[in-house]
Amino acid sequence: TDTLLEVNSLKTYYATKTGYVKAVDDVSLFLDRSKVLGVAGESGCGKSTLVTTIFRVMPRNARVVSGEIKFKGQDLLKMDLKTFRKEIVWKDMAYIPQASMDVLDPVYKVKDQMLETILAHEDVSRAEAMERIYRTLESVGVPQEKADMFPHELSGGQRQRVVIAMALLLNPSMIVSDEATTALDVITQAKILELMKSLQESRKFSMMFVTHDLSLLANVSDSIAIMYAGKLVEFGDVEKVFSNPLHPYTQLLIKAIPDLRVRKQKKLVAIPGFPPDLENPPKGCRFAPRCPLAMPVCSEREPEFARVEGFHYVACHAVNRK
Ligand code: ATP
Ligand code: MG
Repeated sequence: TDTLLEVNSLKTYYATKTGYVKAVDDVSLFLDRSKVLGVAGESGCGKSTLVTTIFRVMPRNARVVSGEIKFKGQDLLKMDLKTFRKEIVWKDMAYIPQASMDVLDPVYKVKDQMLETILAHEDVSRAEAMERIYRTLESVGVPQEKADMFPHELSGGQRQRVVIAMALLLNPSMIVSDEATTALDVITQAKILELMKSLQESRKFSMMFVTHDLSLLANVSDSIAIMYAGKLVEFGDVEKVFSNPLHPYTQLLIKAIPDLRVRKQKKLVAIPGFPPDLENPPKGCRFAPRCPLAMPVCSEREPEFARVEGFHYVACHAVNRK
């Protein structure tokens, strides 16, 4: 296979007054070229920490304790930060963050900010750049005249489309979307998701799509990574994960998805309990305190992240014992 991004044994911790929040704790995954990786897990499980580590925009108190992030074979964490920002970010991998205003500068008109992004990375004429800006805005369904507006003059959905256009501007190999649609109403959310998927199919970039809502991932992803409390608990082919979820946590997440095809709604199962404190995570498996299948070994020894068959990995004593 043709791997574009490879995260190996990544640990990102936050320093606090009392210790370390182990937000990403030994996570390994990969994303192939022209494929979509969906990353899901409850609020606070470390999804955004993973993304901000990849783009090296973590909060000041964050530290990469160990691991590597290989993009096209090069370890991004070892790259000089200035070079990384000039040569890689926007140009070869772009980031659609949880809040669109993190990307859009309120004092710039849409077109001026897009122009600056192009001119900072490429040696093209203004006219050529403007032509590309209008074309890209059109491809995401934003009328040309909106280019003259300031971000606050746009609706939430339009702003999100502008950020998607920004991400597409330099034709990157990978786009990472962190809850890009979460703040929008359900209809707009579905439209933007559809837009991103169709752009991904026509332009063939790789996409990492991060959400707390596993149900969004079924129709857009090729592979799925499930995080729980800073750990990757399951990773595999989308069909395998949805038709044969192996980790008890994944099974509960899937049960919690409302089935829209069935008229009589199945009873939604909320997962009892809360995720653990990431400063003092439980010994053994971090899910053990909430797990319906927990055995004595689960609270003693951490389960190995192991391949079950084909492209399907899980970290669970109950599964790997068999
Ligand atoms: P959500 O779905 O709510 O966006 P998430 O999966 O993206 O959640 P993160 O934002 O990565 O989760 O946070 C992971 C953990 O790290 C959480 O326990 C959070 O409280 C903690 N955390 C995040 N930022 C900091 C920080 N700057 N200092 C200390 N702890 C932090
Ligand atoms: Mg987040």
